[in-house]
Amino acid sequence: MSDAARTIGFIGLGKMGSPMARLLINGGHRVLGFDLAEDALSHLTEAGGTAVHSAGDAAAADLVVLMLPDSDVVTSVLHDDAVVAALAPGSVVIDMSSSEPMRTRELAADLARRGIHLVDAPVSGGVRGAEAGKLTIMVGGDADVVAGITPVLELLGRPVHAGDVGAGHAVKALNNLMSATHLWVTSEVMIAGQRFGLDPEVMLSVFNGSSGRSGSTENKWPNFILPGGFDSGFGLRLMLKDMKIATGLARAVGVEPTLGDEAVELWARAAGELDATADHTEVARWIASAGH
Ligand code: NAD
Repeated sequence: MSDAARTIGFIGLGKMGSPMARLLINGGHRVLGFDLAEDALSHLTEAGGTAVHSAGDAAAADLVVLMLPDSDVVTSVLHDDAVVAALAPGSVVIDMSSSEPMRTRELAADLARRGIHLVDAPVSGGVRGAEAGKLTIMVGGDADVVAGITPVLELLGRPVHAGDVGAGHAVKALNNLMSATHLWVTSEVMIAGQRFGLDPEVMLSVFNGSSGRSGSTENKWPNFILPGGFDSGFGLRLMLKDMKIATGLARAVGVEPTLGDEAVELWARAAGELDATADHTEVARWIASAGH
């Protein structure tokens, strides 16, 4: 679907934000991008975007996309005085980060008092999905506002309207708790099978035609773990953050996340021993290492 050219502010040009901003530029939009990292700004300029040097300058647009690490950073950016001054009534902020749904609702209520709409639109599909414009985008917000930004989101992938504001962040975190839990058990299974003498390619081929199939058997093990790259582009700590959001949400609505809590504990142990920048697929190597 095409859309008239717009000026879009884009804050957070990291592993995901950088290719996403490029797709918006290629879609004919003017992108004003900001990131704390200088090299992220250079990549934006090379892609044809306009690098600005503060979040306030990027917020001088009627549509502002955030692709930041977590709710703490999203909140600090949206409370920045220059950002507050730049966001005009009627403008739309899309938080595409994987943030905390309860905090997203609070921020939306704050912004609504100033006539600004907040839509949450976190994504699944990883860096490859971001590069190819094939993300699944989980959207939470007012239906009319969501309809107005859908042509922009369609440049990035497939938007699914999950419900009111916060719904996107909720379904994203819940998805990642499942994803992390099955990556862990898939890794245990793959390592055990190989030590028994099974060929890992044969195992994946069987699992992918059987009931053990998942994103871990279809994507993560064949593409990032078996080849030994551990380079999905999604950080282990970001995964752990999402898992904690999901278990917190479950608890808040009266569901005891027994297995989820166990998974959080296991991932936290791995995170405590691995480098701060480790890719989340590194858990497979950690599980395989002696003593675990
Ligand atoms: P990243 O760490 O590569 O990028 C985050 C960027 O935000 C960095 O470039 C950082 O410099 C910038 N930043 C931090 N604080 C800032 C501030 N105050 N102002 C401006 N810029 C600031 O992370 P990522 O992998 O791109 O993930 C971004 C979000 O998307 C996270 O919420 C993550 O959970 C989610 N996500 C990531 C993936 C993935 O595969 N990497 C997939 C789905 C969702």
